[in-house]
Amino acid sequence: MRFFLVLCTFFALPFAAQAVELNGTLAQGGLVVGQVQPGSVVTLDGQTVAVAANGAFVMGFSRDAEPRARLKVLGPGGSVEEQTLSIAKQTYQVQRIDGLPTRKVTPNPADVAHIKADNAKIGAVRSSMSTDPRFLSGFHWPVSGPISGVFGSQRILNGTPKSPHNGVDVAAPRGSIIQAPADGVVALVADDMFYTGKTMMIDHGLGLTSVYAHMDDIFVIEGQVLSQGDALGTVGQTGRATGPHLHWGLTWKAVHVDPQLAAGPMMK
Ligand SMILES: [Zn+2]
Repeated sequence: MRFFLVLCTFFALPFAAQAVELNGTLAQGGLVVGQVQPGSVVTLDGQTVAVAANGAFVMGFSRDAEPRARLKVLGPGGSVEEQTLSIAKQTYQVQRIDGLPTRKVTPNPADVAHIKADNAKIGAVRSSMSTDPRFLSGFHWPVSGPISGVFGSQRILNGTPKSPHNGVDVAAPRGSIIQAPADGVVALVADDMFYTGKTMMIDHGLGLTSVYAHMDDIFVIEGQVLSQGDALGTVGQTGRATGPHLHWGLTWKAVHVDPQLAAGPMMK
């Protein structure tokens, strides 16, 4: 499918400099994990980036990130290193989905209240900042199957343009086991969100969170510590979905990134 082009276009870099080491994809939607000397202060375009006690940090680049970003590292001994990062541009497709129930595209006032309450819960998780860099486990695919929706695509639902798709969709039979793609802590379990149905979220540390939507069953509870590969629940079709699939989102603070870039090619 078309999305493989994205993976081939960019290569994971390690590149090293004196004060900072970066691993990941410097592209729109890319996630980059960095390492500095413990006690360093890191800023990205002037905004402070949280650094773990061991010197690890993480940052993400949005769907529409500017072509350059400025990374600055203040070492504990007073050294200063600045780098200009080149952020590769992505192209996004248009995805039309028809046949959704009208109410799931144009919600009524009661639905709007439901959506606001859902968004407040999701927003609270995304604005939290736990200190353990659990994302250092790296990311695997939580489920395997055909990719039915890529990150960043402009969506037209029942003919109406909507926000870009902020995760990746993997089609899989109802009941397929979803595994934790990385270490983390369960940050949210919700039974009935308007758009995402049975939904759970994982906190991977330092503002990096992931979301799992349209689930059929959830096996975990809030606060549960997860290791990569632990069973989270099963694939379903709850919320706004035209067939059983997992919507998997990965977000650094409020910045949605492409889980496909973080997980790499899927093992079949
Ligand atoms: Zn989706």
